Amino acid sequence: MLETKSTCPYCGVGCGIIIESEAGAITGVRGDPEHPANFGRLCSKGSTLHLTAAPVVLQTRRLLQPMLRAERTAPMKASSWDAVNQHVADKLAAVIGEHGPDSVGFYISGQLLTEDYHAFNKLARALVGTNNIDSNSRLCMSSAVVGYKQSLGVDAPPACYEDLDHADCVFISGANPAWAHPILFRRLEAAKASRPAMKVIVVDPRRTESAEFADLHLQILPGTDVALCLGLLHACIWDGLLAQPFIDAHTTGFAELKALARDMTPAQAARICGIKEVELLQAARWFAQSPATLSLYCQGLNQSSSGTAKNTALINLHLATGQIGRPGAGPFSLTGQPNAMGGREVGGMATLLPGHRDPNDAAHRAEIAALWGVDALPSRPGKTAVELFEAAARGEVKVLWIACTNPAQSLPDQALVRRALERCELVILQECFAGTATAAYADVILPAATWGEKDGSVTNSERRISRVRAAIAPPGEARSDWQIVRDVARLLEPVLRPGRASLFDFERSEALWLEHREATRGRDLDISGLSYALLDRDGPQQWPFPEGALKGRARLYEDGRFAAPDGRARFIAKPYQACAEQVDARFPLGLTTSRMRDQWHGMSRSGVVSRLFGHSGAPVLRMNPQDMPRRGLKDGDLVRVRSRRGEITLLLLGDADVGAAQADLAMHWGQEFVSGRGGQGQPLLGANALTQPAFCPDSKQPELKFTAVDIKRLDLP
Ligand code: SF4
Repeated sequence: MLETKSTCPYCGVGCGIIIESEAGAITGVRGDPEHPANFGRLCSKGSTLHLTAAPVVLQTRRLLQPMLRAERTAPMKASSWDAVNQHVADKLAAVIGEHGPDSVGFYISGQLLTEDYHAFNKLARALVGTNNIDSNSRLCMSSAVVGYKQSLGVDAPPACYEDLDHADCVFISGANPAWAHPILFRRLEAAKASRPAMKVIVVDPRRTESAEFADLHLQILPGTDVALCLGLLHACIWDGLLAQPFIDAHTTGFAELKALARDMTPAQAARICGIKEVELLQAARWFAQSPATLSLYCQGLNQSSSGTAKNTALINLHLATGQIGRPGAGPFSLTGQPNAMGGREVGGMATLLPGHRDPNDAAHRAEIAALWGVDALPSRPGKTAVELFEAAARGEVKVLWIACTNPAQSLPDQALVRRALERCELVILQECFAGTATAAYADVILPAATWGEKDGSVTNSERRISRVRAAIAPPGEARSDWQIVRDVARLLEPVLRPGRASLFDFERSEALWLEHREATRGRDLDISGLSYALLDRDGPQQWPFPEGALKGRARLYEDGRFAAPDGRARFIAKPYQACAEQVDARFPLGLTTSRMRDQWHGMSRSGVVSRLFGHSGAPVLRMNPQDMPRRGLKDGDLVRVRSRRGEITLLLLGDADVGAAQADLAMHWGQEFVSGRGGQGQPLLGANALTQPAFCPDSKQPELKFTAVDIKRLDLP
């Protein structure tokens, strides 16, 4: 038996795993006791990873060879890499020649490795010449990116997992780590068990497993987080809980924020949020007066039409109370996906460039162009996730290259997304699992390698870079994502850059990583002191890790100097705004979306493990029992759930953990395993048949967390 150290491919906790393999097959997985993210522990998903590589999964669910269909209505046929790559390159060249580079869009994934991200970014920006490259990370943490940049100067989470061992108060907002980040939550449980005086506050419209654990659950109405933070700040001001010396020495903009908070009294904030004023006041005291307060936050803040304002409102609280830059203190955004952070570092999103640079900044574009050896990078703004598919639905984007994600299920407003996919001249799907909802719309399928078969790196929520290592060769003809990109790029180069040296002279993943490393030199995330060899010898490391450093930095801003040019953090004064969509007489209930403990995203991987259905085996709509009788509803009814965009049918269960006048649906369901029959007529399934494409104006992250719906028994008109 061989043992290979790697990293769990599910979530942003980034646990170390040891893959057991025999005769070219993965036979087991266990936690890596030396990895600082998990010290050997694994959750239900991580500990069953090897079952996703079982022989029956390889035979029935993996994409094992390239496929192509000549026309949209023709059946998909097995093909060769040479033929498929040439087809893709020819089609890309023709569309770019006729309609320009912005007629092409790339929609990639936080599941990709840093090296894969880099290859896609270079293909889109340096070769094709478009900034139309975005990632499904847009759905998960782009509000956190912009929040950090606006408040602290750069996109860098200032805290680390070890801070859980030092915090005296943990403020969990819009997150359910008990289910979504389980190994981190185990660490919180252990910390509270050893220091019972620690206070845990959970802010969530639902009474989740994390809320059950908390000392105080603020069960706010959906979308009211900014009002809550302003009310908490007001309480801190009036109760004399501000860290005035810190505010004076290290921040700017407090006067404007103070003026805004003056109008949001705790009583008014409590009324808007639907909580008791006394609870809000208690939370303010614990937050401000605890020696060290750590916030953990995730999609409840991010997936919102005011996602950036929610992030900055919470960071304001940390700055005003001086809860930052010390062990156990800081605003700590949790990433959802295993390499959402790596995607941010490498700039694999429309609004970013490598090394935390800005595509709107001419000097930043020139720096990357010089590093990559091209004359210039495109200056036209790229389209973010929702914008990209809206443009495709209008016929402006004609080719979509989708990698390692399933937008026909996971983007909001499925009907619009599917219209976009129908209208494209070419949909290229780079995937490892067969039969996703998006596969039905693909014209070309490029079979990709997955965890256990790939080599590279990822970065977890605490800025820790871990190696991902191949234990076995990819099955069939599957290839690593960066290799697939490289091979098409090499065919395109003679057309788009005739007579110039290749930009894709990569034979190993390390070559891509080294190029990425150069883009970080001298930047806030400088990793010029790291190498694959160092990571292999010393294990995972946090950034920054500049050349000459002996180790990375566990937490940031300990010297009180922030990343803005003047060294000061900024208070951002943004008022509370309600959700983009409101309930009314036709759509009187608010639908929130959530995660299950044992499933991952659209279930293309976790859905092949029968054991993971033991916790919840079918999609269920949950609503507060007090709302059911007056609507003629009871447990076990089949109900029609309708929003302004679509409708789906679900089983209904009463659940007192869901707030009044609300319903909740897990976001995972909706996968329909179809193959080769074309997209038309695919039924709308899952939460995103209902959700809205409205997004935060700053981060462009859509409001997946709130939709106005109507719920009726199926047998009623
Ligand atoms: Fe994998 Fe996340 Fe579970 Fe760790 S907590 S084992 S990274 S899914």
